[in-house]
Amino acid sequence: MLGGMQHWPLRIMRLLDHAEREHGRREIVSRYAAGNTERTNWRGIARDARRLARALERLGIRKGDRVGTLAMNHGRHLVAWYGTIGMGGILHTINPRLFEDQLAYIANHAEDRVLFYDQAFAPLVERMKSKWTTIEHYICFDPADGSGPSTGLGTGFEELIGVESDDYRWVEGDEREPAMLCYTSGTTGNPKGVLYEHRSTVLHAMMEISTDCLDLSARSVALPIVPMFHAAAWGLPFAAPIVGIKLVFSADYTPSVMCDLMRSEGVTHSAGVPTVWLALMQYVDGTGSDLAPLKVVTIGGSAAPRAMIQFFVDRGIRVGHAWGMTEMSPIGTVGAPPADWDLFSREQQIDYIARQGRVPFGVELRIVDDVGAVLPRDGITSGRLQARGPWIIERYFKDESGPAAEPDGWFDTGDVAVLHPDGTMQITDRAKDVIKSGGEWISSIELENAAVGCPGVAEAAAVGVHHPKWDERPLLLVVRKPGAEVTPQAILTHLSQHVARWWLPDEVLFVDSLPHTATGKLLKTALREEYKNYKLASAA
Ligand code: AMP
Repeated sequence: MLGGMQHWPLRIMRLLDHAEREHGRREIVSRYAAGNTERTNWRGIARDARRLARALERLGIRKGDRVGTLAMNHGRHLVAWYGTIGMGGILHTINPRLFEDQLAYIANHAEDRVLFYDQAFAPLVERMKSKWTTIEHYICFDPADGSGPSTGLGTGFEELIGVESDDYRWVEGDEREPAMLCYTSGTTGNPKGVLYEHRSTVLHAMMEISTDCLDLSARSVALPIVPMFHAAAWGLPFAAPIVGIKLVFSADYTPSVMCDLMRSEGVTHSAGVPTVWLALMQYVDGTGSDLAPLKVVTIGGSAAPRAMIQFFVDRGIRVGHAWGMTEMSPIGTVGAPPADWDLFSREQQIDYIARQGRVPFGVELRIVDDVGAVLPRDGITSGRLQARGPWIIERYFKDESGPAAEPDGWFDTGDVAVLHPDGTMQITDRAKDVIKSGGEWISSIELENAAVGCPGVAEAAAVGVHHPKWDERPLLLVVRKPGAEVTPQAILTHLSQHVARWWLPDEVLFVDSLPHTATGKLLKTALREEYKNYKLASAA
């Protein structure tokens, strides 16, 4: 027997319809790579998405076909998202920072038929064209002359949609139909595709606006620094229409550009990985710039170091420390003040934010040991972190090897974590990055975070290096801040105030830079490879 209420499929286009109807005049501002700014609003995005949907049908694209984008954040990219999904296509955002053989693999694996791209990536598109076997149409978002084709690589965006009317009705269907495809930025092996559904995306978006998550409302002005190709810009482009947020996009990541844009557009909310915040912090420190009226920053993708949390808290900005994965749409946990927040000392508040937050309704977490036995949520025991819920992966796209999750939904995240009695989760490592010393685990993340709190340290990476007695011991690689003269001894002294003695790195090495993945995380696989034969003096 069914209940007596209406069946209203949770389809993504209802988000845009709502924004057009209820918040039509709320602006979408884009600063393009060439330095020009374009202003539209939710009504304009919806109108152009309908024109784009018609144009895709004219090109012969049909329901279920994949449409790729290789682009930074801007309003035209948003139009391509909604236009593609609105005509029943599957939007495939491609990360332009991937290696070329990975770029070839994922577009071919996805069987993309169309590619929308930024002019800035035209040379890359030119090089890749002969390797991409399924793309039939190339459309440049921002051709150099402002409209028409510029590179011989196909049509320009305005030219494509300009000839279309906006008389279009979105393709309807089941709420569990696919809408978007994102590939993981896997550091080993081929990237894997995660196929988001209409329903999973709408549920995730409805959760995301809530106060204890990203705290978004009709008064918010959000600048997603996280790129639209990184786990759907953490879902912000889908959450924004629910409450009619003003969105500000920048294709230029220069800290001065970002800061100016934040001030001139009145940005209240922003989200990004620690690496970009680090650059912004250095700029603000160096120039004495002001971030007002910024109120909430969401930091995720890698652990937010304490020093970063302090930087924002000192300026009266709330930090939402978020953890998630492409496989989780991506939000798994976000830190928000608990009931007794006002009783916390400042240090306790920072400690709380330094953990990765709590689950929203819709995510369940547990930790298990190596044989799968469930471990206690005691704030001490660490184990492999598993998650389940309606926006968490069941199986990878076209993966013949079977489901990615267990039959009862538990998906092994590959992270190692502690669950605290107050509901907070604390990532201690990636399962493969953990340093195994004398049968015990040392958290590389905690060492790194403690190290970046030491004056003069810009960035740090801890890797396990072979040791004849202990199996592995930590080696700390450090990038100094420009002009800083910090010594290994100073770093070890600083670390000894934050971690157990036996966790202290056996050696500290200074390096000019550290390798990062295409989504800004430390590339530990490359570091482990580089230092695999490193001889620690302590091992002699
Ligand atoms: P991606 O799918 O590229 O977003 O990568 C997901 C992985 O990033 C997770 O499995 C974690 O290992 C890592 N990660 C994401 N957020 C955090 C965080 N706040 N702290 C530590 N690691 C994180």
